[in-house]
Amino acid sequence: MTAKPSYIYLSKIEDVKSEARRQSSRQESLKYSQHLQDAAIKIGALSYHELRARYRKSVDSTPIAKESGDAICPDCDFTFSPEDKDDVRDHRRRHENFDHYYLSTGHRPNGYAARESMKKKGYTLIEEGSELEGWEMVIQSWFDRSVFSYIESGKYKHHPSFSKYAAMIIGNNVAGCSNCKKLVEKYGQKPGAIHEGETYWRPSK
Ligand SMILES: [Zn+2]
Repeated sequence: MTAKPSYIYLSKIEDVKSEARRQSSRQESLKYSQHLQDAAIKIGALSYHELRARYRKSVDSTPIAKESGDAICPDCDFTFSPEDKDDVRDHRRRHENFDHYYLSTGHRPNGYAARESMKKKGYTLIEEGSELEGWEMVIQSWFDRSVFSYIESGKYKHHPSFSKYAAMIIGNNVAGCSNCKKLVEKYGQKPGAIHEGETYWRPSK
């Protein structure tokens, strides 16, 4: 993603919200919306509304045009028509959830094409004898797909970290990965946390 001078990240909005919450607890006579407004102005925005609009614009400017006329977003892997208002709205909603996940974990899950090539490379490494490195790549591609599916369901807060997820996958011996001793030693095993034979983590109800 190329940073543009006017580009703003979700972290800016979240900073403003934290500052507004802080001020709110100190000065309860003012409404939270007023604190939001003040916090936004303090960092140089015209208003909180204007800051949100700038973030929306930033999100809209992230996708890359495809030859077909559609666009694909490198951050959230969404392909859509930039001319279609509903598509643009769907992209903003989805992208913001991906940004929230990134803000809380520091990780941007790989999209479909990158995942597939990572998995392929992983299996090649396993065949060549670099088992630990290979399995880590394969599990990373499953992990990213699992994270994608979770965020696509509208959530972003509770997906387990890579190392916890790896222990779940190893615990169920998915594709025979628990035969790799180094992998088991590094991550441990947590059987039953992911349905047998599956690679998607799902929140327990
Ligand atoms: Zn996006």
